[in-house]
Parts: sequence; C-alpha cells; structure tokens
Amino acid sequence: NRQIVLNSRPVGAPTPADFRLIESAIPTPATGEILLRTTYLSLDPYMRGRMSDAPSYAPPVALNDVMVGGTIARVEASNNPQFKVGDVVLSYSGWQDYAISNGEGVNVLPADMAQPSLALGVLGMPGFTAYMGLLDIGQPKAGDTVVVAAASGAVGAIVGQIAKINGCRVIGIAGGKDKCDYVTNDLGFDVCIDRKDADFAAQLAAVCPSGIDVYFESVGGAVFDAVLPLLNVGARIPVCGLIAHYNDQQLPAGPDRLGLLMGTLLKKRIKMQGFIIFDDYGHRYGEFFSAMSQWLSDGKIKFKEDLVQGLENTPEAFMGLLEGKNFGKLVVRVEQ
Ligand code: NDP
Repeated sequence: NRQIVLNSRPVGAPTPADFRLIESAIPTPATGEILLRTTYLSLDPYMRGRMSDAPSYAPPVALNDVMVGGTIARVEASNNPQFKVGDVVLSYSGWQDYAISNGEGVNVLPADMAQPSLALGVLGMPGFTAYMGLLDIGQPKAGDTVVVAAASGAVGAIVGQIAKINGCRVIGIAGGKDKCDYVTNDLGFDVCIDRKDADFAAQLAAVCPSGIDVYFESVGGAVFDAVLPLLNVGARIPVCGLIAHYNDQQLPAGPDRLGLLMGTLLKKRIKMQGFIIFDDYGHRYGEFFSAMSQWLSDGKIKFKEDLVQGLENTPEAFMGLLEGKNFGKLVVRVEQ
C-alpha cells in the first residue's frame, strides 16, 4: 500500500521535500469495516490549508499522517453490511492506494455511472461550490455582468455556465491564451481576459462598460485589485477562495488598501460574503445534484478533467495547481 504523508509543513510554496511516499502491507478490515481501493483522487486548493497549522475551519493534517483528499474507490473487502465487494464509492481516503473505513461518510455511487470521477468535480464538491456560491450569495439576475476568477478551473467553469443559464453577461479571467480560448469557445462565456497580460486591468475595464454586478472571487491579489473599482452599487461578491494568497507568509508590502476596500463596500452597499461549502450548504446537496444532473443531460454544462496518471505524481500535480498548471478539474488516476 503506497501512501503519501506530510513530511514537513510547507513554508511558502510546497516543495517535493514536504511530502514522503511510504509503502506498507495492505491493511485488513476489522468487524464493521471495509477495505477501499482508491481509483481516483481529487486534488483541490483547500489541501494547502490542511498542510499548515494556522487556525482554520478544519484541523491540519498531522506531520507523518496521510494527506487527506476526496476519492473514488472500489470496495475490495467488506465486513460492513451496508457495502458489498465491487461497490464504487465516494470516500475521503486521501493520498493512498488503500484505506480502511468504518463506512461513515462513504457514499455508494450508482452502479451505472459512466464516469465516476465526475463525483469529484462537476457533480461533486467543486460543482456544488459553484452552484451555491453563485446562486445563493451572488444572486445573479438576467442582464447582470458577472465576472468569474479562475474561469477555466473546476469551480469557475461551472460558475460562468450557470450564470449564462441565468441570462447574465459573463466575463471570465484565466491564466493564458489556451485557457481563455477554452472559456469562450467551449464554455460559452462572453469574454475571457488573460490575468497575465500587462494591461489586464485596462482590458477588464474595457469589457465591463456597465460595471460589475457579481464578482465570484476565487483568487484575490491583483485580480481583485482590478475588479474593485468596477463594482456597481449593490454588487455581490461570493468569497469562495483566495488562491493567490495561500502560500503567503505575511501580509504584502505596499500601501494599506483596507480603507479603499471598506470605503467601496460602504459607498456602493456591496455584499461580500465568504462560505465553506459543506459546512454552510451541506443540507442542499440534493437540490444541487438534481439540477446539475439535468443540465448535464441537456448538454447545458460542459466540463474538463485534467487527469494525472499515478499516485507518485500527486505532489507535483498539487504544486502545479497552486501555479495554474492544471487545465480543468485536477484528478489523479491512482489505480492504473
Ligand atoms: P482550479 O481548478 O480553478 O485551479 C486553481 C486555479 O487557480 C489555477 O488553475 C489558476 O488558474 C488559478 N491560480 C493559481 N494560482 C494563482 C495565483 N497565484 N493567482 C491567480 N490565480 C491563480 O481550482 P478549484 O476550482 O478547485 O478552486 C478554485 C477556488 O475555489 C480556490 O480558491 C479554492 O480554494 C476555492 N474553493 C472554495 C470552496 C469553499 O467551500 N469556499 C470549495 C471549493 C473550492 P489560472 O491559470 O486560470 O489563473
């Protein structure tokens, strides 16, 4: 059983030395337990937070413990009447080939699910995040201008498409021409701006002549700086993530812009609200799942998976996620 454990807490950006691959015998399930074989492992930005012992909404991974993560797995052995051998499940097995579970939090997926890894993406946590953040906090109305950060990614791609379904004008922001082309040509956003362009802020202003009504925040940093002056009176900002800051060790140098931010929120009566998807909206997962399943079968929502082969490549893939090297929902195929 190969396992990737947290070797040290990253200081700034994670490095390969922060992880260690260990091997041990495949464990045997006790009474009431099941043995799970990981087939797919989801890699998500929140994992950076679990590597740090700074206070957060969830406890950190202990040093030398297996890194956490959502997984698709197959039941290999079962001493629990709720599961039978061969069941395909959504579990939280983490960065390892095999895991033992008592079944808590493990959900059996439909046997006929053509692509089970979708339960880690468009039909799972990222899709759900997009749905609730945009619809419940963003409150988009037809004709609104909606700006979406990290627009080609697991969450952003879905946010923009749901905004289009709701009749909004949708502007994506992504890193690089390929991602921007995908966002407009394949996902159907109206425009996509490259955050790496030197005149990015001016380009964004030019494509938002009526200002911004909803800004779906996943990034922070220079992207938020460009968005702030364009926000309309009554704008809504679901604060989903701040990936540009996850490796920060201290507040950035430079002028203190807190007064500018607070003044803008005050004068323009802007609502800015953070959320943690399952803590705040877990009870509405069913509603999301049926809406998204319908959109998928109607061909209204498209998605892209970035599939990495092999558990041993997980640390590198995760490090790339924090630099924008992924293109679509990042998933590791653990069982070759
Ligand atoms: P993505 O698939 O969008 O991948 C991350 C993307 O972030 C990269 O591809 C890159 O896109 C962008 N990025 C990376 N580093 C930087 C940087 N320094 N500056 C600007 N952009 C950067 O990830 P997810 O869709 O899984 O997650 C998106 C956000 O949503 C994250 O902030 C995550 O933490 C948050 N999230 C929050 C949840 C909640 O409950 N609040 C739940 C799920 C996700 P590009 O190259 O296009 O710039």
